[in-house]
Amino acid sequence: MKRIPEPFRIKMVEPIKMTTEQERKDALAAAGNNPFLLKSEDVYIDLLTDSGTGAMSANQWAALMIGDEAYAGSRSFEKLKASVQTLFRWQHVIPVHQGRGAEQILFPNLVKHKGSAKPVFISNYHFDTTAAHVELSGAKPINVLTPEALNTSSWFDFKGNFDLEALQKTIAEHGAENVVAIIITITCNSSGGQPVSMANMREVARIAKENNIIVVIDSARFAENAYFIKQREAGFAQEPIGDIIRAMFDCGDIFTMSAKKDPMVNMGGLCCFKNDDYLALFRAVQVSCVPMEGFITYGGLNGRDMEALSVGLWECADEDFLEYRIGQVAYLGELLREGGIPIQYPTGGHAVFVDAGKLLPHIPSEQFPAHALANRIYIEGGIRGVEIGSLLLGRDPETGEQKHSPLELLRLTIPRRVYTNDHMKYIADCLIAIKADSKNIKGLTFEYEPPVLRHFTARLKEID
Ligand SMILES: *Cc1c(COP(=O)(O)O)cnc(C)c1O
Repeated sequence: MKRIPEPFRIKMVEPIKMTTEQERKDALAAAGNNPFLLKSEDVYIDLLTDSGTGAMSANQWAALMIGDEAYAGSRSFEKLKASVQTLFRWQHVIPVHQGRGAEQILFPNLVKHKGSAKPVFISNYHFDTTAAHVELSGAKPINVLTPEALNTSSWFDFKGNFDLEALQKTIAEHGAENVVAIIITITCNSSGGQPVSMANMREVARIAKENNIIVVIDSARFAENAYFIKQREAGFAQEPIGDIIRAMFDCGDIFTMSAKKDPMVNMGGLCCFKNDDYLALFRAVQVSCVPMEGFITYGGLNGRDMEALSVGLWECADEDFLEYRIGQVAYLGELLREGGIPIQYPTGGHAVFVDAGKLLPHIPSEQFPAHALANRIYIEGGIRGVEIGSLLLGRDPETGEQKHSPLELLRLTIPRRVYTNDHMKYIADCLIAIKADSKNIKGLTFEYEPPVLRHFTARLKEID
């Protein structure tokens, strides 16, 4: 397998505590067998999320020092605006504290703008905070993801695509006058960081235009999506990444961005409008920004944060960086496949998903096989992953029955520029060692079950 070496050298290191197996057993017991409740200093490799966990570059750290902390009209805001205007060729920029900050100031205004009594949003897949803000604004989120995404073991280039037929049908069913917006999520986080093709984005934009519907691009991982298009879609192999990014963004009217993902800042986000087409709406969003996020030239960010974000937007769109980034995730995926570990295939941009349902067939879904695997990999190697399965899904609110997730996955999310390829090899070695002894992994039941969002604070015990 071709190894892609890191396109950076290390100038500063953060030591990580090494623990013994006994220390990890004690820590996990104290955390109620729930890795979410572990102290991060008891974790050796933290793969809980790629959000806000990236490593900033020397240039980003240097930029912090020239932050302009003026309340209004900060020079750092002007620099951020110029970065967006050059990279995306978009006109209007509102900084926000993170992705959900953009959602909370935009969505209620979109709903008001549409003025429908039965408002819906349609997306390839609404991210969970996105769906929550759609509902908070009084509308209903509908997902129309390509069915190819559900087959975890067969290759499909663009498992983040919209099912275009389902999109047309859903618009017809609800009436275009009730569709507040179509949200294109790039990459599609909920289907595993899988990309959306340019052809699919363009078709979505065409359908939206035909029906007079606004297109919002939820763009946390825009650069990773552009890189997949360059690698996989006919006609783009020779295109510079910047041109692909601009072509993708031509498909939207508004974008929201969690800058904690691709742009590699620890906190930050954006809400941008392409041009003057929806000027009244843009102004309404600015008005909402002031009481909710902060004045329109900082939106909850420090001047220095806007400096680091201006730099990060460019760094994440660098082709050598992207080759290493996507290559590192694929490298871990290949090591696991070679070792006989079932994973979601192909790997997406930011995570590898281990199919715990297949690896631990003796544990039924109501005993949370992926969570049992998360606990085992912590004990084995101090690695923290996260269950994406029945524990996350929860109970049917009407019957109180445990819902059965179609897939029981352990997500290993790779932070950007943080861990080396040797760390990837170590993660794979740990999982391969676990596989040899997988029959002895036990299912789990609740010791304490919280009423909502239970995976964050639940306490569990093994079933003998
Ligand atoms: C993370 C994320 C969000 C929310 O952003 P936060 O910065 O966590 O508030 C929205 N959409 C997608 C696709 C995301 O990945």
